[in-house]
This record gives sequence, C-alpha cells and structure tokens, in this order.
Amino acid sequence: MNAINYDTVKKDFSDELLERFLRYTRIYTTSDETLAEARTPSTPGQWDLLRILEAELKSFGVKDVSLDEYGYLIARLPGNLPEDARVDTVGFMAHVDTSSDAPGENVSPQVHNPYDGKIIKLKNEISIDPAESSLLASYEGEAVITSDGTTLLGADDKAGVAEIMTAVHWLIQHPEAPRGSLEIIFTPDEETGMGMNRFPVKSLKSRFCFTMDGGREGEMESECYFARAARVSFKGNVIHPGAARGKLVNAVTMAGAFISLLPRNESPEATDGRYGNYWPHKVEGTLDSAELTVFYRSFDADDIQRRSDALHSFAAGVEAAFPGGSVSVETKEQYRNMREELDKYPQVINKLREAVMASGIEPLENPIRGGTDGSRLTAMGIPTPNIFAGGVSFHSRSEWVALPAMVRSVTVILNLIGIWSE
Ligand SMILES: [Zn+2]
Repeated sequence: MNAINYDTVKKDFSDELLERFLRYTRIYTTSDETLAEARTPSTPGQWDLLRILEAELKSFGVKDVSLDEYGYLIARLPGNLPEDARVDTVGFMAHVDTSSDAPGENVSPQVHNPYDGKIIKLKNEISIDPAESSLLASYEGEAVITSDGTTLLGADDKAGVAEIMTAVHWLIQHPEAPRGSLEIIFTPDEETGMGMNRFPVKSLKSRFCFTMDGGREGEMESECYFARAARVSFKGNVIHPGAARGKLVNAVTMAGAFISLLPRNESPEATDGRYGNYWPHKVEGTLDSAELTVFYRSFDADDIQRRSDALHSFAAGVEAAFPGGSVSVETKEQYRNMREELDKYPQVINKLREAVMASGIEPLENPIRGGTDGSRLTAMGIPTPNIFAGGVSFHSRSEWVALPAMVRSVTVILNLIGIWSE
C-alpha cells in the first residue's frame, strides 16, 4: 500500500482537526462515578457531544449512524474492496466524557501557536515547564493547546474523538483509498470504569478494535493490568462505651487494622513499571459495621490471584485479633490484562506497529498502568489495543496536547486502515 504521509494530512486536515477539537473541549462532559452504576451516561452534558457527533457524521454522508438509549454512538462505513477480499471489520473507539479529577465546566482552550519554547503560565499559578518535559520542548514552533488553568483540557479523550472524526472525513473525501468495513464507536463514562456496563457488544461487527485513548505520540499499548476490587465487610459487637470493657468489638478499629496490613511498599505511590499494587479505595462504617473497598492490580495472572489470597489471609488475621467480630471478603474482577487475548492474534499488534512506523514515528510499547474501555471490550471477546491520542498530563489543569501529535494520530488511523485492507 502507499503509506499516507503526515505532511499531506497536515496540509489538508490540521485546521479542521484543531477546530473540531477546540469545539469539543468546550462541551461540559465530566462524568460522575457515583451515578454511573445507576445510569449511562452518568451526566447529561455527554449527550450534547454525542448528538453533535451524530449530526456531524451524518453531515459527512455516513448513512449508518445510531445513537442508542445509553449514549453508545456507533457508525458504520462500508468497505470498498472487491467482493472476494475477506477483511475483518475493524473498529475505532474513543470516549466522550472527561475525568472528574479536575473541573471540566467552561473549558476555555488556549492555543499557543507557535509555541515559543518558554514556560507556559496559566491561571491558578499553573505552569507547564519545558525544562521538566523534553516532549513539550520538542514542540517549539508548533501549535500546543492547554486549558486556561481553571479546568482540565479534556484531550483525554476529545483528542481521540476529534482524530477519529477527522479520519472519517478524510476517508469520505478519499473514496479511492482501499478500506475494509469500519465501525466508529463513541462511548460515555469511560472515566468511571463503568462506561461499558451496558455496551451492546452483540451488535458489534468488528472482529478487532482500537481505542484512541493513549498519551504521547508513538504510544501503542497492548498490555494492561489484571484489575480486581475487594469488598471487605467488618462486623463488630456494639456495647455502650461506658460498659464496654472486654465486650465492645469496634468495626471501625477492625477496618483500620486491616488497612494497616496492606503492604505500603506495594502501594501505587511506591510502585511503577511492571510492579503491581494494592490500595484502600474507600472506607465507611460505624462501631457496628464497616465496609472497605480495596483495589488491587497486577500484570500477572498468578500474582493477582496471590493478592486475592493475601487479602483473605489479612481478613482471617484481623478476625482472630478481634474475638466476637467477623470479617468477610468478596472479590470481583474489574478488567483483565488484554495481552492474554491479544497474544492469540499477533497480527493485530504487528499491523499497528507497521502503521505507526509508516506514519514516521518510533513505536513506544509500554504496559498501561490502568485500563481502558479497550480492556473491557477485550474481555468481552473483541481484542482492542490502545493507540496514542497525543495528550499529556491527563486529568489535570496542566493537561496539554500538541497539534502535530494529533495529526500523527490521524495519520496512524489512516495507515492502519490501509494496511488492514491488504
Ligand atoms: Zn481516556
């Protein structure tokens, strides 16, 4: 195939990519973890962006566009290959919500164009220093986009959304470029971890998908954690504190004892690279009963099981130390390491790597210390690695993205579609 070149995408599509991205960032789509179990999408603003995307896809001339009652937007583009070409349908996916870790209302994106290579100073004394980020320094002379410092930017994942939309527009304008059937998937509530709970996976035709939800340019991720959550319940024995000697069993104290057994050197703040961890995520309770949620992670299937077993032993230890009290542990899987599935289909990563290199970028292949909608979709049977969308410092007021990284992301999508059609 003829590789699609960064410069041609830049020349014809970078203005509309930037315009689209800025427009999406201004829409208030912060999701709410506390509501996500009860409803999808968790917040009404996500509908605004979903409806804009639906209308925009239709205005491109995409005929098969459906937005369902839970805010899953799926568009289908037929392929243009000869009848006998057997090419798997492939999907590209991004999420419309932004993280609740930083404010996301009234986002006012700032375009530093050309970026002068100096410290970027924003409101709230937020500064982004190229001395601390050689990546930022490398974009001197290019367009760099930040928030004004009062909110996050929302490049996670509106960069991914804008890139997919721009790639679709390119494909519509280039009907001669060979492609198989494609699905475009926009989802709500990714940041809550519950965005795929009601996903209509059975209606999907894609054999494989790609999420456009990674960070700096070049990143391609085919490995994530095995993630589990444990719900630890403590039952005490309440006696009036005035007459409690030798009788009261305090459930709050029990929860504290349990937390103190979690190894500090295996916490997120003490680990990186390929190390797994545990952390107490939420605790509430009274003398009578307490509930603790512990999240734990590992890249290794045996190790995640070892961690489940360890939590059960900690529970037995606390129970033994508090006669009359009881402790129970229930563990549940949140997502699995997608490498387990992807290893069965090495062609997916090979084609992706080829597309990244064809776009003139060095692939950066690292495990994600987290999960994506792709991890959930992989667990549902559709292997889904993650591709860079270009953003940096996600979920914070100092989030930024460089336009060339976004253009390269569009280039990778287009090259991947070309390679896939062979
Ligand atoms: Zn994201």
